[in-house]
Amino acid sequence: MMSGKSLGLSDELQDYVRRLGVREAPIMARLREETAAIPEHDMQIAPEQGAFMALLVSLIDAHRCLELGTFTGYSSLAVALALPAEGRVICCDVSEEWTAIARRYWREAGVEEKIELRLGPALQTLESLLRSGQEGSFDFAFLDADKENYPAYYEQILRLLRPGGLLAIDNVFWGGDIVRPDVDDAPVRAVRTLNERIAVDERVTVSMVPIADGLTLARKRD
Ligand code: CA
Repeated sequence: MMSGKSLGLSDELQDYVRRLGVREAPIMARLREETAAIPEHDMQIAPEQGAFMALLVSLIDAHRCLELGTFTGYSSLAVALALPAEGRVICCDVSEEWTAIARRYWREAGVEEKIELRLGPALQTLESLLRSGQEGSFDFAFLDADKENYPAYYEQILRLLRPGGLLAIDNVFWGGDIVRPDVDDAPVRAVRTLNERIAVDERVTVSMVPIADGLTLARKRD
């Protein structure tokens, strides 16, 4: 949620960032336009966040990526386009309907070979990856699925990442509610729990980046 603009930026600065700080591929702009017609469109990441994540993936020379919460495919498209030809993304989502849009754009962008969609509860998908010997094999992960399971996803993803691998966690500001004591529902409680846990987790090096709705970067220590 809250992907429309970066929290705390004036509209003028937001426009400036989009105009000069993002080189959005035309196909990604079209995906954003199509997604805008869906009531849940705020679940799509902001273009400046897509550019940022694509750069991160290039910087760490990622080949194997994991995504939890694919929605209509904008973030996975940004990541897949940044990967080398042999790069792969495993995408986890529960919605056939939303990911049908994603598949269409992956195909059109020529990255469908790089992306494997796993429909079903992500906890089960991650468990099956661990059982099939893929522990410590992923370079990059993006966590943006249901917030209630964030703490559980975090533990599984840490096991799946290689030492030096990078995890990006979305919506850590939860629309600003994260610092509102009067808001105390299940999603905000889960995000708070994870934020507080990561802050003191010696297994990772952390930077909470105030882009869009807050994106925590956690690098698994060697
Ligand atoms: Ca999100």
